[in-house]
Amino acid sequence: ATPMSIMVGVGRGAGLGVLIKNAEALERMEKVDTVVVDKTGTLTEGKPSVTQIVTAAGFEQDDLLRLVAGVERASEHPLATAIVNAATDAGLTISAATDFDAPVGKGVIGSVDQRKVRVGSASFLTGEGLDPSALTAQADRLRADGATVIFAGVDGQVAGIIAIADQVKGTTPAAVVALRAEGVEVVMLTGDDRLTAEAVARRLGIDRVEAEVMPDHKADVVKRLRSEGRVVAMAGDGVNDAPALAAADVGLAMGSGTDVAIESAGITLLGGDLTGILRARKLSEATMSNIR
Ligand code: ADP
Ligand code: MG
Repeated sequence: ATPMSIMVGVGRGAGLGVLIKNAEALERMEKVDTVVVDKTGTLTEGKPSVTQIVTAAGFEQDDLLRLVAGVERASEHPLATAIVNAATDAGLTISAATDFDAPVGKGVIGSVDQRKVRVGSASFLTGEGLDPSALTAQADRLRADGATVIFAGVDGQVAGIIAIADQVKGTTPAAVVALRAEGVEVVMLTGDDRLTAEAVARRLGIDRVEAEVMPDHKADVVKRLRSEGRVVAMAGDGVNDAPALAAADVGLAMGSGTDVAIESAGITLLGGDLTGILRARKLSEATMSNIR
C-alpha cells in the first residue's frame, strides 16, 4: 500500500471520529464481513438502572438491596453501579463489605453486617451451592423483556432477584440495517443470559447471538468465526473485551471505553456506537480504492 494514501486516510479518519492506530486495520476494514459486538456499553448505553426487585419468602426488599449494595460497592462493574445507585436513591445506609471477592464474569461475594452475601448470575449461585429455582420463572419473565437478572444469596439462601435494564443506543437498529446492506453480519457477544441477550438482539434487528460467554472465552468466539473463513472485526469497550479485540482481524475500541480496550484495538471510534463502524468501513474502501 502507498504510505501516502494511508496517511491521507488516517487524517480523514481523525475528522470523522475514526482514530486509526494501525495502518493494517485501515487496510483490512473494507474486507470485514462479520462484526462481533459486545452488548453492554456498545449496543446499549452502558448506564444500566434497577427496574425491579423480587424478594424470596422471608426477605424484605430494603434489607436485600442494602446487603447487595454493600458488596457491589466494592465492584466496578456497570451492574454494581446500578445497584449502589438504587440503594442510595432509596435512602439506604450501605455498610461496607469485608472478605470481598469478584470472580470475573460471575458476580461478587462478601460479608455485610455479619451476613454472607453472594450476588451474580443464577449459575454462579448454583455453583456456590445455593438453589435459585424458586425465582427462575420470575427471572425468565424479566429476561424476556430484555432485563439482566441478578440473583442475590444471603447466608446460603437465595433471597431475591434484581432486574437491571440498559437502554439500547438509538442509532443501533439503523446501523445494523446499513451494515447488513453492505454484506456485514452483526453478532452480539455477551456474558449475559441467553434469554436477555436474545430479547435485546431482537429489538436491535441482530440475528446472531453468542450469550453466556465467560470473559476469557470471548477471544475464542472471535477465533472460531475467523476459522470459518470470515474476516472479523470486534467492537468492545471493557477490560474483558481486550483479548477478543486483539484476536480479531480488526479491533474496534469504543472511545468511551476503558484504556485497556483502546490499547488492544487498531481503531478507536469516538462516537462510541455502530455508526462509527460503517464510517470506518467506508473510509477503508475509499483509501484502498485510491491505492488500487
Ligand atoms: P458482559 O459481557 O455483559 O460485559 P460480564 O462478563 O461482565 O458481562 O458479566 C457476565 C454476568 O456475570 C453478568 O450478566 C452478571 O450475571 C454477572 N456479574 C458480573 N459481575 C457482576 C457484579 N458485579 N454483580 C452482579 N453480577 C455480576
Ligand atoms: Mg462488557
